[in-house]
Amino acid sequence: MPTPKVVFVLGPPGAGKGTQCKNIVEKYGYVHLSAGDLLREERAKPGSQYGELIENYIREGKIVPVEITCSLLEKAIEDSGKEKFLIDGFPRSKNNLDGWNNTAAKRINLSFVLYFDCPLETCTERCLARGAAGSGRSDDNLESLQKRVKTFLSETEPIIQHYKAMDMVKTVDATKTENEVFEEVAKIFDEIKV
Ligand code: UDP
Ligand code: MG
Repeated sequence: MPTPKVVFVLGPPGAGKGTQCKNIVEKYGYVHLSAGDLLREERAKPGSQYGELIENYIREGKIVPVEITCSLLEKAIEDSGKEKFLIDGFPRSKNNLDGWNNTAAKRINLSFVLYFDCPLETCTERCLARGAAGSGRSDDNLESLQKRVKTFLSETEPIIQHYKAMDMVKTVDATKTENEVFEEVAKIFDEIKV
């Protein structure tokens, strides 16, 4: 098996990571792994050992301990048998970054970090609209969102800075329409030819 390659996809909640990942999958044949979706799936499993813990972290906008998230990601990568992955919404803290570097990074190569840059007010509006339209997410409400934004600023922003210092970040302006944003995204993927 060739070494799996991943692109980390980061940005505030509501920046459009999930939406654009779907577009990337269609055009470039990646496998989309949303860390949040994997956690929500694990939470929903009857008898899951971590269900309650995960729900509490998500509602509070806090970051689930990396051992749980990383093992879900690694399992999904292994089970797929594929080679190219978008990891959406991870790593979003120092704990996530260290956990990844100490385990998965030995078996999986990081290609680059795709960063969706979007003002937090716009992002919050989008998530509230998503909640009002029936996303069914227990964290698409104003109270959880304020916590998620706070967590993004204090914990995720430094991770983006860390990768910027390593010159590994490709930034996209995520304020425009879905199609316009995808045009920018596509330029990046066309250029790197992966
Ligand atoms: N989450 C986490 N670790 C991760 C990814 C997500 O703990 O690696 C939790 C965290 O509580 C976060 C929530 O799941 O606020 C929702 O994450 P998701 O990526 O789905 O939200 P998005 O950023 O896409 O709005
Ligand atoms: Mg998402």
